Amino acid sequence: SPPRPERGRFAPSPTGPLHFGSLVAAMGSWLYAHRAGGEWLVRIEDLDPPREVAGASAAQLRTLRAFGLQPDGEVLYQSARGDAYRAALDRLLAGGDAFVCHCSRADLAATDGIHRRCVASSPRSDPSVRLCVPAGTRVAFRDQVQGVFAQDLAAQVGDIVLRRADGCWAYQLAVVVDDAAQGITEVVRGADLLDSTPRQIHLQQRLGLPTPRYAHLPLVLDGDGRKLSKSLSSLPVDDAEPLPALRAAWAALGQTPAAVACAGSPTALLSAALRAFDPARIPRRRETLLAATHNAD
Ligand code: GLU
Repeated sequence: SPPRPERGRFAPSPTGPLHFGSLVAAMGSWLYAHRAGGEWLVRIEDLDPPREVAGASAAQLRTLRAFGLQPDGEVLYQSARGDAYRAALDRLLAGGDAFVCHCSRADLAATDGIHRRCVASSPRSDPSVRLCVPAGTRVAFRDQVQGVFAQDLAAQVGDIVLRRADGCWAYQLAVVVDDAAQGITEVVRGADLLDSTPRQIHLQQRLGLPTPRYAHLPLVLDGDGRKLSKSLSSLPVDDAEPLPALRAAWAALGQTPAAVACAGSPTALLSAALRAFDPARIPRRRETLLAATHNAD
């Protein structure tokens, strides 16, 4: 088959405005995709109505535009993708890789919430659907930033929820179906999702889908080592002041501040960043300190 074009994506959940941590993922995925002459897409992961904030996806797209991060194709909304998820689920059910599960949270309390076999005390009207993870299933992959990551999927994760008891599609199923449907070759996102990647690779294999390359960027912590999302620095980035936030995101990616110091517009900054981008400079850690980004050089 012909080589697939390089394609990356940024996939925010519309649970609020874009904060600095999301900007690092957006800029990092944009740089990885464009450095290879590829395309960069945006997908809105609006799978979970109870967690969604009205107007959030429109605000996120406005912010990306203000920051010069222009998608190279139509924005995909997961809320419109139910038929594709249903088709994948039906294939897994038909092939015996997935099963209907009546277990409740309480039923799984004895195994720390890990499902290895059905122990439901009573049938429920709203069963979930799980992917079977047979004993001994181990997944290892080489992350472009974090190095080799391995997980004993059966022991550490157990059978994976594909459709929740409340009827919502699970993130793990949707992300795998959509990364394949959008032809994504390179997934660049925060290191909080490193732990989910073996699940996604296992699911890709069960569905016969290609596995993209992965790069998990360190999460940015504030000077006190707190997650940005729990501190003042998780304030939304300001659409009217893109340059300081883009410079800080560039520094959080471990890149040379001088390379973007003179840029006077987001577009100029992103072109300068693209010329100077060196993935080998990204901190090979799960977390990096915001304070340290000010004197990265
Ligand atoms: N929607 C997820 C989030 O905002 C990201 C999913 C992904 O990049 O795979 O955390």
